[in-house]
Amino acid sequence: YSSEPSLQAKEGNGFKGHGMLAPFTAGWQSSDLHPLLIERSEGAYVYDSNGNKYIDALAGLWCTALGGNEPRLVKAATRQLNKLPFYHSFWNRTTQPSLDLAKEILGIYTARKMGKVFFTNSGSEANDSQVKLVWYYNNAMGRPNKKKFIARSRSYHGSTLMSASLSGLTNLHQKFDLPAPFVFHTDCPHYWRFHLPDETEEDFSTRLANNLENLILKEGPETIAAFIAEPVIGAGGVIPPPKTYFEKIQAVLKKYDILFIADEVITAFGRLGTMFGCDMYNIKPDLVSLAKALSSAYMPIGAILVSPEITDVIYSQSNKLGSFAHGFTYSGHPVSCAVAIEALKIYNERNITEHVNKVAPRFQEGIKAFSGSPIVGEIRGLGLMLGTEFVDNKSPNDPFPAEWGVGSIFGVECQMRGMLVRANADNIMLALPH
Ligand code: PLP
Repeated sequence: YSSEPSLQAKEGNGFKGHGMLAPFTAGWQSSDLHPLLIERSEGAYVYDSNGNKYIDALAGLWCTALGGNEPRLVKAATRQLNKLPFYHSFWNRTTQPSLDLAKEILGIYTARKMGKVFFTNSGSEANDSQVKLVWYYNNAMGRPNKKKFIARSRSYHGSTLMSASLSGLTNLHQKFDLPAPFVFHTDCPHYWRFHLPDETEEDFSTRLANNLENLILKEGPETIAAFIAEPVIGAGGVIPPPKTYFEKIQAVLKKYDILFIADEVITAFGRLGTMFGCDMYNIKPDLVSLAKALSSAYMPIGAILVSPEITDVIYSQSNKLGSFAHGFTYSGHPVSCAVAIEALKIYNERNITEHVNKVAPRFQEGIKAFSGSPIVGEIRGLGLMLGTEFVDNKSPNDPFPAEWGVGSIFGVECQMRGMLVRANADNIMLALPH
């Protein structure tokens, strides 16, 4: 692999040599390996500008569920581009692909009955829109003080002002004057890292539910609007919930009339082995955020599912409050919707959940073979999603010094050996295309 420090830089591709302010990229990642120019894709592989082949072990950014060259998605996009490349969905005007996709999504979402779908362009926009939607709803309900949000440490909900505030990763807050003052973070449900000596998973879940309840009582239940959670935490390290966690959390939320927003941006469309993460954990959300695999990332699109109860209030009160004055030029973009409709068709025809359940054990067991390594503390995950924690002495109490960047070194090694993963200082994450 041509990871020779100077090769790509020599060709003028170095960070300092191009005109892009790159997202989530540091200045020190300047000239050596970066940027890695990805030029084409084929199934679960991508190729760089030097012709090197990599396993795309993060499915792009947890999103290209159908891999790199699915001709049916390309055809769906081209067909729509030729017919109607764009029309919007404002003021009771819209396009057929948006209506068809909304209907499709409502049809496949079976964790509970949902009322309507609101389209965005991304997961961040979906979660940002959730905040405004919940505020509008509570204003319509005559509860102007019920406006605060509770999210969790180590969660990731996006990088816009609101979605970064909801996120529980400190690098999204520091230097950006976030989180917003109406957002609170409760415990990360990572049993291996945070359980007390002799505490069972169930007891750990009880303690976290109690902590949530205490936070609600401290702030005042009448001021808390909603709780947001990923069924399995993704970018925070791939952290599945401990046993009975969501059951106990949902009971607390119900007690205080607090809405549950399920952020399914990563977990939807088969990644865990169920169509949605909510199916896996028996979550009955009021609102759901979708994006990424909705179109297998071939076109940008996000969506919010809104419960019938909330939809009814929004529509019935709009005479009083005015229209739901929120949306984007590209909400329900016809090309994105046409691609997403085709992606959903493929998931259905290929029985994507059955397929994931068939291939996932080989993936999970294969990687878990490394759990004997002295620097691996925990390997965890389910379906086609997996996280590995690097610590000394196999103990969560013995982290490696952050400046060693053990996870990052591992990530660079993987890249040099032909596999692209997501690396943090102390862990790496994988999410294969389905
Ligand atoms: N929510 C979750 C759970 C995510 O993993 C992500 C992105 O990784 C987002 C929201 C943000 O989505 P986007 O990058 O499309 O704005």
